[in-house]
Amino acid sequence: MPVAALLSRGAVNDYYEAFGPVARFFDPMLLPILREQVLKANLELVRQGLVLFTFGNVSGISRRDGLIVIKPSGVPYESMTTADLVVTDLEGKAVEGTLRPSSDLPTHLALYKAFSTIGGVAHTHSEYATSWAQARRPIPCFGTTHADYFHGSVPVTDAMSDTEIASDYELNTGHAIVRTFQKIDPGAVPGVLVANHGPFAWGADAEAAAHNAVILEAVARMAYYTLSINQNADAVGKTLHDKHYLRKHGSQAYYGQLKDPK
Ligand SMILES: [Zn+2]
Repeated sequence: MPVAALLSRGAVNDYYEAFGPVARFFDPMLLPILREQVLKANLELVRQGLVLFTFGNVSGISRRDGLIVIKPSGVPYESMTTADLVVTDLEGKAVEGTLRPSSDLPTHLALYKAFSTIGGVAHTHSEYATSWAQARRPIPCFGTTHADYFHGSVPVTDAMSDTEIASDYELNTGHAIVRTFQKIDPGAVPGVLVANHGPFAWGADAEAAAHNAVILEAVARMAYYTLSINQNADAVGKTLHDKHYLRKHGSQAYYGQLKDPK
């Protein structure tokens, strides 16, 4: 039996901190690299000013293992370590970790099941994106910053019914998002506004999900300013929107450096 399994939460952290690589060698945690990525992505939300207190959560999935690593519920970011993160299966059953996972776990699971290409999910209550979510207005594409990342407006879900809120609220939040994407490619629009709640973003991995959450907040803020300067501002035309999105994504992408320059 690994020593770590016998220790309380605080003691597990002290144990890994005190004995570092030696402890890891004798008591390897599941998915150490994914844990590092998920911790880094959660801390990135704090660094970018997207979260207050313990709000927000990022998860990552190992499709090969069928396991998710997610932030624990209610643990301060300042003291969070990789050992605090919770590993669950795709049904939400804890596989490793002594803490309760983020209460939004069922939403993350619904997204991983419905969107087979995503590897990370990020949720925040960042101010501007949440304001659009509360106003229940999709964010139109007013410029190329938006077009670089979102191939279309950032959609908003329908409001949830009383029955959906009363039971399995977090799972039904996931279902509401999936319904919104029936005719939208989640690979081309990597984020959504949940009505009267806030944004969820996703990406190829936890880091990309957090990155898209940061961009979504910036896009929401700029769209708000755009409308306050000119309430009749028009969304960009399809040609400019396609140009910017497609030069960064898809088979003809040419933005940035070549991955394998010859
Ligand atoms: Zn929330």
